[in-house]
Amino acid sequence: MTATTPLTSPSAASGTVLQGVPVVTGVQYAPVIRPGKLPDVDRESTKDLAEEERPAEGERFNAAASAVATRLRERAAHATGVASEVLAATATLAQDRAWLGATEKRIKEGAPAVRAVVGAVDQFVDMFTKMGGLMAERVTDLRDIRDRVIAELNGLPEPGVPVPDKPSILCAEDLAPADTAGLDPKLVVALATTLGGPTSHTAIIARQLGIPCVVAVAGLDDVPAGMMVLVDGTRGTVTVTPDEAAAREAVADAERAAAQAANWSGPGATSDGHAVAVLANVQDAAAARSARETPAEGIGLFRTELCFLNTDTEPTVEEQADIYAEVLEAFAGCKVVIRTLDAGSDKPLKFAGHPDEANPALGVRGIRIAENNPGLLTHQLEGIAAAAERSGNQPWVMAPMIATPQEAERFAAQARSLGLTPGVMIEVPAAALLAEQILEHVDFLSIGTNDLAQYTMAADRMSAELATLTDPWQPAVVQLVAMTARAGAAVGKPVGVCGEAAADPLLACVLTGLGVTSLSAAAAAVQNVGAKLAQVSLAQCREAAEAVLKTSSAADARAAALAVLG
Ligand code: PEP
Ligand code: MG
Repeated sequence: MTATTPLTSPSAASGTVLQGVPVVTGVQYAPVIRPGKLPDVDRESTKDLAEEERPAEGERFNAAASAVATRLRERAAHATGVASEVLAATATLAQDRAWLGATEKRIKEGAPAVRAVVGAVDQFVDMFTKMGGLMAERVTDLRDIRDRVIAELNGLPEPGVPVPDKPSILCAEDLAPADTAGLDPKLVVALATTLGGPTSHTAIIARQLGIPCVVAVAGLDDVPAGMMVLVDGTRGTVTVTPDEAAAREAVADAERAAAQAANWSGPGATSDGHAVAVLANVQDAAAARSARETPAEGIGLFRTELCFLNTDTEPTVEEQADIYAEVLEAFAGCKVVIRTLDAGSDKPLKFAGHPDEANPALGVRGIRIAENNPGLLTHQLEGIAAAAERSGNQPWVMAPMIATPQEAERFAAQARSLGLTPGVMIEVPAAALLAEQILEHVDFLSIGTNDLAQYTMAADRMSAELATLTDPWQPAVVQLVAMTARAGAAVGKPVGVCGEAAADPLLACVLTGLGVTSLSAAAAAVQNVGAKLAQVSLAQCREAAEAVLKTSSAADARAAALAVLG
């Protein structure tokens, strides 16, 4: 098989759009390369070493760990900037006393070096994972060191990224700094990983290299080396063997848009001055601070549940207030919308007491958790109120997964009792249909198009196979957005969009035409969305919206918008 042979398999069929988390904007179309895997070596040999063999095995291990660290340090010396820093940090980790000691102890107890390395790394991986956050992301570095040391112990070449002979897209389960540091951006033109988060080393290096990057891409493991893919770092997608002409057009479009977007500095408005706030979606204070570097005018969605994914017990009001205050301070004097915990479904929280459910996406998630566990919501609202007072920035608060006006009424009353401005998310079709009644109770609405598409189309948003159904351009979804925006306009209350639809510059213009008053997207998308909006008039947005509302397929909807907005 040559490097560019198009391949197909049932799980990675042509045209499949895999969804991930966008990290660095830009679009690239090229064949996939994958890092070399460590060949199978016996990692779990149960045979113990004889007492007299153990000291030599300990020395053999120390020599291997030291050789790996030296090579990493040499590469650090030849790299620059962040790449150099992360290589040096990995070299230091390879010589960390705690894990060297844990491995030596296992060897002293009789384990051969490879088994000892695997056991000691597993022990630290467990510990780091439990600590969560940044520590959890160092797990990749540890596993990388483990594989390098095992290769060294077996006299095998170090695992790593092959140097391609033409521009390629590096896809991997995860990438360690030693894989990515020093990559040539002319040859590796985009990155995509199955795991990883926006603050993983993959993300840090991709930002430094300035190449499009998408992480946490479900289904990416089924895309083999050699397959052509289109990586869209703004929308967070990887399209498998797309139509070639369309893919090349998408790359050219992105290059043109990037050249224009680079000059946009906000605030969000159409070319004729119709203001539409362009906001950022964040998951913690670090993300808020980095969003502050973009022209984002505020935060349209703070996904608070993502702060606590690795937390075993409910954080105290004070602990919550600390986190929320940091986010509010990052956007001092700006609009910040904090969403209460959207726990459940694909984001279970250990302390939320989720019941066992056959269909968790249709189960007790979001606001529904408050029914059996009212303390959780009360404590969170108290934490938010305390953070507001401390930071001097009054946030808006909104509840996820609202399905009825009564839920909205209860939430609003509770938020108001603490002096907070209440709103709700519209992500269940029932809520869009009754937006007028819901607006009798709350001060604003925010449309979550990710879930709205999932529930309108009865298609799991996590399923790559159903990605065409969960496309936010689906006319049925756009109709519900239109209905919600009309309800807001009728009573003069703001209606924003905070789902991924707002990250698509073309769709963002259509949403504006439908009457949406703010657009909140991943920070990486802010620049492109604001720049596109600045190129079109409100009349054009309205014309595009009307044209889209007459279509009956997502493809026709896109084409109709393109015909008006270019
Ligand atoms: C949405 O559903 O569109 C949304 C913004 O919420 P989340 O993606 O966190 O479910
Ligand atoms: Mg949602």
